[in-house]
Parts: sequence; C-alpha cells; structure tokens
Amino acid sequence: MPVTQSSAVTTCKILVGGDWIDSAATEFSEVFNPSTGEVIAKVPMGKGDDVDKAVQAAQAAFLEWKEVPVVERARVMFRFKNLLESNYEEIARCVTREHGKTLPEARASVQRGIEVVEFACGIPSLFMGESMENIARNVDCETVRHPLGVCVGITPFNFPAMVPLWMYPVALTCGNSFILKPSEKVPLASLLIAELLIKAGIPKGVFNVVHGGKDCVDALLTHPLVKAVSFVGSTPIAKYIYETGTKHGKRVQSAGGAKNHIIIMPDADMEQTVQALQASAFGCAGERCMAGSLALPVGDAADQLVPLLVESASKMKVGRTDIGDGADMGPVITAQHLKHVRTMIDKGEKEGANIALDGRVTKVADGPNGYFIGPTVIDKATADMSVVREEIFGPVLSVVRCQNIQDAIDIGQNCEFGNGAVIFTNSGAAAREFKRHFNAGMIGINVGVPAPMAWFPFTGWNHSFFGDLHIQGREGIQFYTQQKMTMTRWFSTQSGKFQDPIWKARNK
Ligand code: NAD
Repeated sequence: MPVTQSSAVTTCKILVGGDWIDSAATEFSEVFNPSTGEVIAKVPMGKGDDVDKAVQAAQAAFLEWKEVPVVERARVMFRFKNLLESNYEEIARCVTREHGKTLPEARASVQRGIEVVEFACGIPSLFMGESMENIARNVDCETVRHPLGVCVGITPFNFPAMVPLWMYPVALTCGNSFILKPSEKVPLASLLIAELLIKAGIPKGVFNVVHGGKDCVDALLTHPLVKAVSFVGSTPIAKYIYETGTKHGKRVQSAGGAKNHIIIMPDADMEQTVQALQASAFGCAGERCMAGSLALPVGDAADQLVPLLVESASKMKVGRTDIGDGADMGPVITAQHLKHVRTMIDKGEKEGANIALDGRVTKVADGPNGYFIGPTVIDKATADMSVVREEIFGPVLSVVRCQNIQDAIDIGQNCEFGNGAVIFTNSGAAAREFKRHFNAGMIGINVGVPAPMAWFPFTGWNHSFFGDLHIQGREGIQFYTQQKMTMTRWFSTQSGKFQDPIWKARNK
C-alpha cells in the first residue's frame, strides 16, 4: 500500500526495492484539496537516508534489468498502458482532488501521459543503432545504445500524472532504473500510478519513489551512483538542478518556467482567437508552462480582441472541481500561490496597467476556504512591467498593445524565457516571419497551446530549459542512453584490387 490511512488523512510511503515502506523522515509536509483548503495527505520530507536506500535498490535492480531483452521491457509498458487505460477515471479524479484542475482537464493530462507510454512501447525500433559495412577495406562499423544506470525524475505540482510520465516510461524501456521524486504538493497520483506499474510487472527496485524537498533533491543530485537527472519546475530551481547535477558528473535535462507570448494580427479570425486565447490563458487556472500569459495584439486588433475576451472570460464559472462537473476553472494550488498571483495583479495595477477583468473579486460560495481567483485581464501593460516580464502561473493574461509585428517580436527577444509562442493570423507571410524570428522553442500558428505530443521533444529555449537533450521524443531516448561504437576488421582476400589513383598518388 502506498499510503498509511488514519482518518481522512493519508501518509505517503516511499517505494524502495519493490516495497512500500515508511520514510525515515521526521518532518512532514501537507497536501491540500485546493477546492476546500482541507488537508488530504501528509508527505514525509525525506533526506539522504531514504535516497541512499532507493539508489542502492535501483543500482542492484539495474544490473539485472539492463540484461532483459528490449522487447520484454516493452511488454511491461504494453501492460502498463492497459492498466492506465482501465484506471483512467480514478487517476483523473486523484489529479483533480490534489491539484484542483477540472475533471476534463485532468482527463486530458492523463491521456497525454498515456501517449508517452505508447511511445515507449515502440522502444525496439527506437532503440536501434546504426551500422555500415566496409567503411574501409574489410572494416565494418556499428553503434548500439546502452542504458546509463540509475536515473532520477524531479517533478512540479502542475501536472501530477503527466509530467512524471514524460520521463520514466522512456528511461525504463531504455534499460535504466528510475527514482521519482514527485512534487510534495501533489504526490498522490504518482503513488497510484506506481501501483499500476508494479501490477504491470516492473521488477522490484527498477522503479522507486522518494518524497521531500531540497534536502531530498540535493541527496539525489550528489549521489555517486545517480547517472542522469530529469527535472521540470520553476526557472531558479531548474538552473540550480542543472548546475549542481552537472557539477557532480550527472547528465541533466532541466525544464524551467515560462512566459508564453500570443501575437494577434488584425486579420485573425477574432471569434476563434478569443476562444483559443481564453483556453490558453485560463485553462488549468493558468498553471501550465505553455499557458498563453502575454497577449500582443498588433495594430487595431486590440480594439476588437480585448472587449470580446473580457466579455467571454467574465462568463467562465470558477468553482470547486472536487464535486460535480460544473466549473470551467478550478482553484490554484495553495494559499501561498494564491497570494503570489494576487500580489502580481496588485503590482500590475500599481505600475499603471488597466485591470480590464479583475479575478481578485471572485468568490466561490461553496468553497470559502478554497484557493480561488477568477480570470484576470491586465490591459495596456508595457514591456517593462513585472506582469509582462515575470511568470505569474495563474489565470492572468497581460496585454501589451503593439504597433506592428516587429514590436511583438522584439518583446519576445528581450524575454528571459523561451518556451512557447503563438500567432493568430490569416497571413502566411506574417506567420512565416513570426515562425522564423520569434525567440522561443515551441511555435503555434493559430494553435493556442502548442505543447508537443509524445513523439516530439519539448523544445524550450533560453531560461525555459537548461541542458542539451530535451524531454520526450527521440531526444528522450538519446538522453537516457549512451552509444557504443564498434569497428571490426576480418581479414579477407576478397577485398578487391581497385585503388583510387588520386588518393594513391597523394599517399605515396
Ligand atoms: P518548483 O521549482 O517549485 O518545484 C519543482 C520541484 O523542485 C519539486 O519537486 C520541488 O520539491 C523541487 N524543489 C523546490 N524547491 C527546491 C529547492 N530549493 N532545491 C531543490 N529542489 C527544489 O516548481 P513548481 O512550483 O512545483 O511548478 C511550477 C513551475 O514549473 C512553473 O515555473 C512552470 O512553468 C514550471 N513547469 C515547466 C514545464 C516545462 O516543460 N518547461 C512544465 C511544467 C511546469
């Protein structure tokens, strides 16, 4: 059992060597239902002793697992996929309860995670190396992929099921063992899914789970047996993980925060744009690293866009997501985060922007202690304001009105982040200009949230990513493997007589 149940509050266990055991931690963090503010679980804030146990178990299991034929490793993933499908609704409800997303949003995120498992099921083809015979007389050459060893995943709160699933299905099928450290704010979905992986037949110790914060992460980053670290979270921590992990000799892929720009050209289909912009900015209460958080309407686009958007977003029903299906938007994750989002809106107001739609006034009658804030539109912001430069990670859309497309591209050029950027237009020329020159790694053309699917990499730029090989897709396979090249010569009399005369003359 991944939890100890006493009254309504469960205490999370760690998974080490195939057994759910109590952490050695003496401190615990609380997990809330963000719709009500009630504590639903306690998470141990584990340290080096938990980590060392998990790493030793993972290392022992790796030595066996790497010898399992790749097709057999894939079979575990096929069974895992089936179990995820048959437990789909329970996982989505768990995500909603601990994170606060609406149920349709939670379901969609679980689906995205399952797609990574489907990608990993194709590992026999993806794992193949390259070969060429006769690269010189009687000499053949090949590369094959080898797993790295113990790999680690450290994940954020905003996608409790999906982000961990970006990592370990690929790492495991490549032949590595894995230790997951889920966000201490949302550990429950990870535990539920770990149970399914055990049922799917993952051998003991190949997959492990530990809990905690900085102490636990530091122990993982510095443990000599850990070979690779995948991280997703905020930019300051992503940078810290990259620097500390690489300093200790680990391979690191570290995805950080974002500010995603949405350019709206005057020729865009305004009704479609408003719907897509609303979904992008306020879906998942804005707690998405690909949320469109900065609108850049060009020319007179703003005069059409802003009133339509404000009218439409003001009709969104903000409410509890843990009961019924009625809400369009749920709460943010914690009371502390709610305070941060409100403070950012206050700042925007103080710096002189116009609060065209104010979510600070939103009240939810049956969730008086929930962490609710309504959709907010901050119009007439300027490029120097905090609401334009900083990540807010809440349902807040800032609007900077631009004279022309170059102004919009320039704002992107000066941005610290570089995850996603989108243009809404009917002009191929404007779309091409934007696609070629905008300073971000994931581009949408008339697509509100251009988050790539499992077989493409998640290509953040600038301070939205630290490392070389991104998460997902073939880059994921490259990240979790190292290549071995073998050159072979077998002496033969059949090697032919022809020699290129120019080469022969040069090499006399
Ligand atoms: P966070 O950085 O606070 O936490 C992420 C993980 O780091 C957690 O597991 C946490 O326990 C750990 N952590 C926190 N503080 C630490 C410290 N001082 N030292 C070591 N580890 C520490 O992020 P969050 O608030 O959970 O998630 C939201 C952030 O994640 C946003 O900035 C969002 O943009 C980003 N995000 C990025 C992507 C992407 O693909 N680029 C995807 C999802 C979320």
